[in-house]
Amino acid sequence: MTLEELEGIAQQLAEPPYRGRQIAHWIYQRGAVAFAAMTDLPQAFRARLAESARITALSPVTAVRSDGGDTIKYLFSLADGPTMETVFMRYADGRRSVCISTQVGCGMGCTFCATGLAGLTRNLTPAEIVDQVVAVQRLTGERVTNVIFMGMGEPLANYGPTLRTVQLLNAPYAAGIGMRHLTISTVGLVQQIRRLARERLQLTLAVSLHAPTDELRNELVPINRQWPIADLLDACREYVSLTSRRISFEYVLMEGVNDTVELAATLGSLLHPARSGAGQRPSGPDANALWHVNLIPWNPVYGLQYRRPNPGRVEAFANALRRRGISTTVRLERGVEIDAACGQLRRTHGPEFAGVRPP
Ligand code: SAH
Ligand code: SF4
Repeated sequence: MTLEELEGIAQQLAEPPYRGRQIAHWIYQRGAVAFAAMTDLPQAFRARLAESARITALSPVTAVRSDGGDTIKYLFSLADGPTMETVFMRYADGRRSVCISTQVGCGMGCTFCATGLAGLTRNLTPAEIVDQVVAVQRLTGERVTNVIFMGMGEPLANYGPTLRTVQLLNAPYAAGIGMRHLTISTVGLVQQIRRLARERLQLTLAVSLHAPTDELRNELVPINRQWPIADLLDACREYVSLTSRRISFEYVLMEGVNDTVELAATLGSLLHPARSGAGQRPSGPDANALWHVNLIPWNPVYGLQYRRPNPGRVEAFANALRRRGISTTVRLERGVEIDAACGQLRRTHGPEFAGVRPP
């Protein structure tokens, strides 16, 4: 709930509106999981709140650590039974990132993705999405500085709750995280990208491309049959022109599937600045200001036959792009040994998937 809504609740229960701010402080800043803990509220009001409202309090079924404790992957269980994943990452430069889920499962069916394998169970509510950040702050005792919507699910297929989460994470009374420190990753839902562009938010948009031709992308990312690459790039150009924000294309590399230098060349010409929409580019000296490519070596998923390319192949692909003037990075790997792939921990540790992991 927003501050205004909490103030409304206070008034409905015959209390002054400032009580709403107190509740917001307890829930978002102090991570309170019960109204009884809100000791600066009158006792009778706390009792009335407990009768009429509920605080989503995620608690982990499993927490696995790697990178010397700097990466923690949580499996949270939801009130109606299913589980979802959230990852905390601590960086040497002081950043504290959380990777959050927006759906239980996902209906997009990308062939290389653990989350996609089981289909969509349901959308998460705004409370369940925001609470991933609040719960991680409570569990680690650390302030989160960055949030990436790259866990389970397709954020733009759960548009309203995702946007409400962005609003709450950004609000000073809640998580207080700057817009530029929020990143939404989408499989490429064209209409929703255009809608998001009109919100004119300064958040970071990442688009999962994974292939430079429709033929290959149709195979890996089935939604491409509905929204092919040309339509997707048109929507991305509109996004850039309305928000003046650069888009980051994610490209998961799978050996022998989409990681050849020939495909890098095709991707290079697809994203070449000259083809990126003359006159629509943000002004400035950087000719590549419009696009950026982030390469992600595929994280193994039990039961899938893809192979993760070795660092030499990854570098060759990256260099082929850079030679064509495309700004390119290779994603820093975190938590590979703790089932880093989104949806993977749930498949190996979630009660509903008992026994998926091979002995
Ligand atoms: N549904 C959204 C956001 C969640 S997936 C999307 O697809 O963008 C976040 C990113 O992780 C996507 O780029 C996705 O393609 C990538 N991903 C999925 N499975 C992966 C795996 N096994 N290894 C590496 N990246 C993976
Ligand atoms: Fe869904 Fe993203 Fe996985 Fe595709 S990659 S199945 S869109 S979570």
